[in-house]
Amino acid sequence: MHHFAYQNGRLHAEAVDIETIAQEVDTPFYLYSHATLSQHFKAFDDAFATIPHLTCFAVKACSNIGILSLFSSLGGGADIVSGGELFRALKAGVDPKKIVYSGVGKTGVELRQALHTGILMFNIESEQELDALQAAAADLNLKAPVSFRINPDVDPKTHAYISTGLAKNKFGIAIDQALAVYQRAKEMKNIEIKGVSCHIGSQLTDVGPFVESLRKVKGFIARLADNNIQISHLDLGGGLGITYDDEAPPHPDAYAKAIKDELGDLNCTLILEPGRVIVGNAGILVSRILYTKTNIAKKFMIVDAGMNDLARPSLYGAYHGILPVNEQRSGKVIADVVGPICETGDFLAKDQEVPDCEPGDLLAVMSAGAYGFTMSSNYNTRPRVAEVLVKDDDYYLIRQRETYSDLIRGEAIPDFLK
Ligand SMILES: *Cc1c(COP(=O)(O)O)cnc(C)c1O
Repeated sequence: MHHFAYQNGRLHAEAVDIETIAQEVDTPFYLYSHATLSQHFKAFDDAFATIPHLTCFAVKACSNIGILSLFSSLGGGADIVSGGELFRALKAGVDPKKIVYSGVGKTGVELRQALHTGILMFNIESEQELDALQAAAADLNLKAPVSFRINPDVDPKTHAYISTGLAKNKFGIAIDQALAVYQRAKEMKNIEIKGVSCHIGSQLTDVGPFVESLRKVKGFIARLADNNIQISHLDLGGGLGITYDDEAPPHPDAYAKAIKDELGDLNCTLILEPGRVIVGNAGILVSRILYTKTNIAKKFMIVDAGMNDLARPSLYGAYHGILPVNEQRSGKVIADVVGPICETGDFLAKDQEVPDCEPGDLLAVMSAGAYGFTMSSNYNTRPRVAEVLVKDDDYYLIRQRETYSDLIRGEAIPDFLK
């Protein structure tokens, strides 16, 4: 469900003609729909309304402070994975008591910053990280609220790069080793045990692996209780998938029901860390066709956005539907939609049925709201693109397109070359 649809022959975001925005901000740009973002957040959050819970949006999926502040205004918290994301979340007005800090490689400086901020909890992923947090908390004379990320060894049946809950992945602490870690943590002066967490992967289209993982984590929580370790928070991570092509992921209601059924009478505040399911279909990438050409083997559409702007096709072989902004271009052709980057892996679509468009036409790369802008880079010295938020019949520039000066900010020619 999203608010990108044709009106009077042109693709609109809510009530705004995308061509109008393109003329104003130039291409390429990311475009988000406020109504879609809010509806998705509420649908997810409301699905858990009957039990104590906190929805912490996974900042890495879409980290613009304009969007983070929207989720914060709807009562959401944030799941962060770096000091930079902590900074963003605070700038966006997220309540520190609604911030959870995930990730395998938090530095000493990052741990201190988050301790100082007074976040809800740290999701700790190794014993050495626990020691580093104890040391940092002792220095600051604070108690660090922690949860340990358990690796339940469950196959999420998703892309290998975004599977995180298998024993062979770098994430979390093996469930068989975790009890000893909790027992050590219990003896630490500056550590307060708060919870258990897990996150098994991203773009899951079936509830099965979530339930299997929860069952294992519940078993582990029972073992903790047998050892006199009580927890108040259970963090189930994110990972619910979306429709890019023909996937049929469960609705948040079905996901929540499966979780609640498995949860039984476990007396914990549930923490959820959805990213993709909230923002994925709420954003698109708008790009203009520069040239077309037909080689012996196939047709290419060369557009002004590349793998540096949207990495998912190159990185994961991911599929994104492509629509013409002008509805009259609805004829189809099999083609590669490629960018200007000097890499053969630079494509937004490969051997895909795409609209038969001409140079100058605008294309909408759909479902680009999650891991789109946030994974973009300056490769080939390309300024990162603008981000625009549409609300009803207005639109707001929530991030300016970078300038060439932005691109060399902080660089210097050493004295001996001057
Ligand atoms: C990436 C990530 C998420 C969000 O995953 P989605 O698939 O976008 O919902 C949540 N929690 C952790 C720990 C993550 O690494």
